[in-house]
Amino acid sequence: MRGDLFNLEEERLGEEIKKRGAKRVLLQLPDGLKPLAARLASIVERAGASVIISGEPCYGACDVALAEAKELNADLIIHYGHTMMLRDLDIPTIYFEAHAEIPVEEAVRKAIDLLKPWRRIGLATTVQHVKKLEAARRILSSAGKEVHVGNASSILHPGQVLGCDYTNARAISQNVEAFLFVGGGRFHPLGLALTTMKPVVAADPFEGRAYSLDADARRILRQRWAEIEEARKAETYGVIIGLKPGQKRLREAFRVKNKIEEAGKKAYLISLREITDQMLRNFREFEAYINTACPRISIDEAAAFRQPVLTLKEAYVMLGEISWEKLLEKGII
Ligand code: SF4
Repeated sequence: MRGDLFNLEEERLGEEIKKRGAKRVLLQLPDGLKPLAARLASIVERAGASVIISGEPCYGACDVALAEAKELNADLIIHYGHTMMLRDLDIPTIYFEAHAEIPVEEAVRKAIDLLKPWRRIGLATTVQHVKKLEAARRILSSAGKEVHVGNASSILHPGQVLGCDYTNARAISQNVEAFLFVGGGRFHPLGLALTTMKPVVAADPFEGRAYSLDADARRILRQRWAEIEEARKAETYGVIIGLKPGQKRLREAFRVKNKIEEAGKKAYLISLREITDQMLRNFREFEAYINTACPRISIDEAAAFRQPVLTLKEAYVMLGEISWEKLLEKGII
């Protein structure tokens, strides 16, 4: 991977290490940035600290390697690739957002054709491209579109979305007919389509192409309803508590367990760091699961699980506390 595709803020990295007098740094990167780990580790070493690169998966800003850092006696965590989500952690943590330097214009121009049926367009992106949203806005405006960018979140940049936080997009959803998502991969635009229920076109600057997410979103919504129906038949449930710092929702887990028991069924709490079918396979008694951790594991990995794994919101549909239609209105993520 070419380091010049991303602004790694290498100078700031060295300065932070020196300024804080860090002795042992745990360096954490999402898989997409791991090819740059050695380069960043060298900067930490040159700044006078020893460094350990976390080889564990890292999926989001929620996933700060606190437990790992404690085990390794690290006095500073450097977390790349995400916007700051967690504050006042037991071990000082510095987030580096790693903005992409790649131009977005070509992909956005290709999206114009797919956006033809709609005039009022909402713009959304990940942290990597927030600084390029203005360029995207100009292209859309020149094509005669009325462009909206949501700015309703206290932690996100204007227009930015996370896989589990579409606050900015939802804030403008009423005012737009469709969304243009700028960024790579299907994960974020798919979430945008599922949570706003609006047509979504993605402009991928890494691949220089644009495509629609509508068919995928419709298919996933059908699957989610089928999973809820299947889970309804279960008598014994596993309620999953995520161990990653930003995914731990103990109170919600106890609450949904109680609700299931009030409905005359059995529920047991299970703690997990990585939620995979492999990890669940040995729990033969559980016929369905409620996942109180990252909702995208339930939605995006559904095909990998042998039993239904509902999100917390879907669990309340199953329990009859909220209707499916209301959930779609409020956003399934
Ligand atoms: S909870 Fe899931 S979607 Fe949200 S930031 Fe973490 S990994 Fe991403």
